[in-house]
Amino acid sequence: TAKDFQIAPDSLAGKTILVTGAGDGIGRSAALTYAACGATVLLLGRTESKLDKVYDEIEAAGGAQPAILPVDLATFDEPQAQTLAATLVDNFGRLDGLLHNASILGERRPFASAGYQPWCDVMQVNVNAQFLLTRCLLPLLSAAPAASVVFTSSGVGRNGRAYWGAYAASKFATEGMMQVLADELENTSQIRVNSLNPGATNTAMRRSAYPGETPTDNPSPAQIMPAYVYLMSDASVGVTGQAINAQ
Ligand code: NDP
Repeated sequence: TAKDFQIAPDSLAGKTILVTGAGDGIGRSAALTYAACGATVLLLGRTESKLDKVYDEIEAAGGAQPAILPVDLATFDEPQAQTLAATLVDNFGRLDGLLHNASILGERRPFASAGYQPWCDVMQVNVNAQFLLTRCLLPLLSAAPAASVVFTSSGVGRNGRAYWGAYAASKFATEGMMQVLADELENTSQIRVNSLNPGATNTAMRRSAYPGETPTDNPSPAQIMPAYVYLMSDASVGVTGQAINAQ
């Protein structure tokens, strides 16, 4: 299964994989792990200093030269999407993997007092930007022999929970986008589309959402990487439309 996948140094050999939110948390770990498995990783994120550090770590470990894509998904729009896709067409020609990892937590408070602008901000980063990014990259994904799109979900994207507001709704939307796209592409393309729930993982987002937890009681991002590699590797060819758990 996904979470028991045995990661090997050639698990992703020759693949080009874009990771959003690659500068920190789970996305950073995924970028480093994908590079260690032989992939060329495209590091997309909003804080360039963090992306630079991941870039340097990959180079120091002897990985394929990554690329940095400075993008703030909070303001990502159609013209930016077009420019990004054109740049990637020119430089890479195809995309074997797309990991939608970046997202924001937004407000956790009673529905009755939730702010409209915070709601919209969460939807922009967690849903609208993912739609735009996926749509503009479909031609590149179609150019790969067996491409994988992975959306990041959450426990509250599968069962709603009090006070989780826009974040939970955005993760349900993510699951919906995954199902629609997977169904559309299943018989017409080589692109598979799945969602992945990392489960409780020790990152800045987790620590801010659960200040009462002891952070180290949760696994580190590195410990949940088997499922992240599995979904990008050829071991998961034929798996599509599935809601998968990393733990
Ligand atoms: P972090 O907050 O630690 O990392 C999120 C990453 O996304 C950061 O690199 C951040 O950039 C980036 N990001 C946020 N907003 C934007 C933006 N506007 N534009 C570009 N990049 C942005 O979160 P996690 O690593 O914990 O979470 C990763 C994914 O896993 C998320 O989708 C989250 O919902 C999901 N998840 C996490 C769980 C957990 O326990 N950790 C549990 C369930 C789901 P920057 O570093 O610049 O802030």
